[in-house]
Amino acid sequence: MSVLVFAENWDGKFKKSSFELVSYASQVAGMMNTTTIVLSLGKVEKSELEKLAGFGASKIVNGIGANLDVFDSQAYCRVISDIAAKEGATVVILSNNNSGKALAPRISVRLKAGIGAGVSKLPISISPFVVHKRAFSGNAFAHLTIRTDIKIITLAQNSFELIEKNAGASVEDVAIHLDGVQTQVKEVQKQSGKILLTDADIVVSGGRGMKSPDNWGPLVQLADLLGAATACSRPVSDEGWRGHEEHTGQTGKIIAPNLYIAIGISGATQHLAGVSSSKYIVAINNDKGAPIFEAAQFGIVGDAAKILPKLVEAVKEIRS
Ligand SMILES: Cc1cc2nc3c(=O)[nH]c(=O)nc-3n(C[C@H](O)[C@H](O)[C@H](O)COP(=O)(O)OP(=O)(O)OC[C@H]3O[C@@H](n4cnc5c(N)ncnc54)[C@H](O)[C@@H]3O)c2cc1C
Repeated sequence: MSVLVFAENWDGKFKKSSFELVSYASQVAGMMNTTTIVLSLGKVEKSELEKLAGFGASKIVNGIGANLDVFDSQAYCRVISDIAAKEGATVVILSNNNSGKALAPRISVRLKAGIGAGVSKLPISISPFVVHKRAFSGNAFAHLTIRTDIKIITLAQNSFELIEKNAGASVEDVAIHLDGVQTQVKEVQKQSGKILLTDADIVVSGGRGMKSPDNWGPLVQLADLLGAATACSRPVSDEGWRGHEEHTGQTGKIIAPNLYIAIGISGATQHLAGVSSSKYIVAINNDKGAPIFEAAQFGIVGDAAKILPKLVEAVKEIRS
């Protein structure tokens, strides 16, 4: 019996979210009186892998193989399922990000395991295994009992803090030989010069209150100064003011940055469904009754056209 957690890397580096995931897995393992095995796949320096040990890992398995340097859901699913079986894992934990969402159902089929997707807290109980997740776009929560022998959890981003705990894990290199995987990633094309919305720590987002696509200059400038990605509400992309790749919400991208700055966005339920897992929401809106202020921790009531240039100047001043 053990808890296996998949720690994803981005170009050989782990992000804070990977350490949060390991912290979470280690707490689940503590509740089960068992060990936490962290699995990393692809090329990662040993010093980077060793960082995982600081968050409660009992063992770090470093899977190295020809098909593993870029993410391929079929190959990764095979390896994670095989390592889970080899290590006798009864709980497999992944992030509820794009990769986790692609992997969890596939692993579930291979291991005949039930999934708790988008879990946001530690399990309520271990026997029976009951997890807590948000439902109906965050307007309710559900308690889900997973009855299969092996359980899969995908943890909602930003829902768990880092817990530093050194359990003295060492890194074990494992050579992986994959036969019979039917897909092969031939090329990865990355958007250059732009921060990917789903990866961004800070997101600056505009709604219909921006009035016109011509007014986006200061918003983009603020995003550039903060090293942030840009986003928008659905009507903005429907109107063609911004590209559809920026549309967040129930029918767009679901994101969980550390900071979401919502400018001229009313805060409709369908919009919040995509952004309410952000750690901090800052709203700028000229209507103090706008629902976005209920979701936001900080707010400015006023005209975006006047506030944005002032914010840009303030950030420039802090920077200098
Ligand atoms: C099935 C369905 C799915 C949907 N999916 C999504 C989705 O995924 N994402 C999404 O965003 N929406 C979605 N919607 C639409 C959603 O219901 C709202 O209509 C939409 O989010 C509103 O966008 P908005 O806040 O930009 O515009 P508005 O509702 O028009 O709000 C504009 C806001 O700007 C403020 N404002 C106006 N002028 C200024 C100013 N000068 N300075 C500062 N503030 C100002 C106003 O007070 C207002 O609060 C969906 C709707 C349906 C029915």
